[in-house]
Amino acid sequence: MSAPSTPTSSQVPAEHRAAVQRLREEVAALHAELTRYQLVVWTAGNVSGRVPGADLFVIKPSGVAYDELDAAAMVVCDLDGNLVEGTRQPSSDTAAHAYVYRHLPQVGGVVHTHSTYATAWAARGEPVPCVLTMAADEFGGEIPIGPFALIGDDSIGRGIVETLRESRSPAVLMQNHGPFTVGRDARAAVKAAVMVEDVARTVHITRQLGEPLPIAQADVDSLFDRYQNVYGQVQQETGGVA
Ligand SMILES: [Zn+2]
Repeated sequence: MSAPSTPTSSQVPAEHRAAVQRLREEVAALHAELTRYQLVVWTAGNVSGRVPGADLFVIKPSGVAYDELDAAAMVVCDLDGNLVEGTRQPSSDTAAHAYVYRHLPQVGGVVHTHSTYATAWAARGEPVPCVLTMAADEFGGEIPIGPFALIGDDSIGRGIVETLRESRSPAVLMQNHGPFTVGRDARAAVKAAVMVEDVARTVHITRQLGEPLPIAQADVDSLFDRYQNVYGQVQQETGGVA
């Protein structure tokens, strides 16, 4: 990997510098949640957060060990995925994050992992059915499968956006790849990444024991509405895209 030269001055407009610094610290700290919940190995996985009021987001640099991911290591990109501030190359998934921010204005955070159980469902191309109340709370139904897409152009981002637009879920399992999650901010997207793995694991184990019992659609709706609209106002950390 070629090391980019260190910019002598930031291209971040002065009025957004304080927000960028706060977000650098927040996004760096949230990466520790991915390792804490064992959602990632080696340098895989990434968190990004949109800079409020600016066409910018903060994202993990490419190929850096989790132990070295402090605020200064984070990079800032514009919504076309171009590097605006930082001394390293942005994550190889930056184009997908940028596509989501361009097309889903309500989204303030994006997370991608290859967490084991969620990715196992993705490899089978099977949505995770909504057979747990916690899944109804968080996802409002099944966790959908997105299309198979290769890295390198907009096809991953387009697959994420098109799938999430048809669903209440803040998580999509990209086929043969793994989960992408969104939220109103980076923390909410991380929470969705933790929950998608937890639900995928529990439903997988349930399947080993027998057929899970369905939850009636009306009850799924009721659980989702209560959690998102009543509980969510207190917690301020859920983040559906519906
Ligand atoms: Zn990936």
